[in-house]
Amino acid sequence: MQQREKNRLNKKKVVFNRLDLLYKQNEYEYEEAALRVLRSGWYIMGPELESFEREFAKYVGSSHCIGVNSGLDALTLAIRSLRIGPGDEVIVQANTYIASVLAITANGASPVFVEPDEFHGIEPEGIRKVISRRTKAIMVVHLYGQPCNMNLISGIAQSSGIPVIEDCAQSHGATIAGRMTGTVGSIGCFSFYPTKNLGAFGDGGAVVTDDPVLAEKIKTLRNYGSRVKYRNETEGINSRLDEIQAALLRVRLTHLEDILTGREKIARQYLDGIANPFLELPRIRADSRHTWHQFVIECEERDLLQAWLEVEGVQTRVHYPIPPHLSEAYASLGFFRGSFPITEKLSKTVLSLPVYNGLSQEDVAFVIEKLNAFCP
Ligand SMILES: *Cc1c(COP(=O)(O)O)cnc(C)c1O
Repeated sequence: MQQREKNRLNKKKVVFNRLDLLYKQNEYEYEEAALRVLRSGWYIMGPELESFEREFAKYVGSSHCIGVNSGLDALTLAIRSLRIGPGDEVIVQANTYIASVLAITANGASPVFVEPDEFHGIEPEGIRKVISRRTKAIMVVHLYGQPCNMNLISGIAQSSGIPVIEDCAQSHGATIAGRMTGTVGSIGCFSFYPTKNLGAFGDGGAVVTDDPVLAEKIKTLRNYGSRVKYRNETEGINSRLDEIQAALLRVRLTHLEDILTGREKIARQYLDGIANPFLELPRIRADSRHTWHQFVIECEERDLLQAWLEVEGVQTRVHYPIPPHLSEAYASLGFFRGSFPITEKLSKTVLSLPVYNGLSQEDVAFVIEKLNAFCP
């Protein structure tokens, strides 16, 4: 039967993500916050940003928070504040979103890739093997909302005197050994892209740190290199979190715990319900809180599974189909197929299932029923 025909007969459909449902849960609070800013006449670098920075720093348990324009800018400025540039190396996991790597190369530094462990986080022994005289930072990515093995990684970083940058774009609220991601290393970088666990209604990002010197540097860099108006101490950029986004994020932050428990409930239902020998469920690291930015299963026949689910009415996504080392953008780095076999295999086997606030128990049950019926 043609796919179109089948979709017509098969009315039920679970889409991959819906952001409007979360907005509608607290519609009036968001509208009130946005109107407050519109009516105030103050749109950039004002009281909403200051309040959000204070509130988010308190939430993660960090002394400083600096709002910026995006997660990519947070990472780029974090690297820059550590004076990392041409000739320097930054260790990063091979299986990440390309933004982690772009932040390194935007500063003229070179990425040194390391394969992931079974929890999709950077593998600590791999880090130890590639540390060189040129290594200036280790970037960990708490991919899908699951913390990396920070216990071992912090030990390696401390013994070699190398700072750790945490890419927390997917891990708001995730904890490891009771500590929030973003506060374990030297600098934590967050994205508030609308689909992230703490999402704005446009672009946004933030850097958190306990180091007052780094905080001051990033604050200066995000605003044209200026602390005092028209005095530019360094070549900065324009990367500010505007008042409307800050005000909206303040509202969303008050609901973040509910957002995360909602995602955890969906993940629990998947974990309890999916039983198919052709599918592998995500493993959860001990002593950590996984906040399920993505619920990622693995399947040898992933492409077949994804196409079949689409016909059956379940939309899924792949995070990510092309690892950064094989992307066209980085052809000049000279990697090839086979450079990072674990990462390359994952790019062919991972599949992300729908997880979003407002996805009903019946919808999750429907997805589970389809998954359990899959037979390649
Ligand atoms: C989303 C994301 C980023 C970039 O965040 P933006 O706000 O889109 O710039 C960086 N790293 C990871 C792992 C991400 O998922």
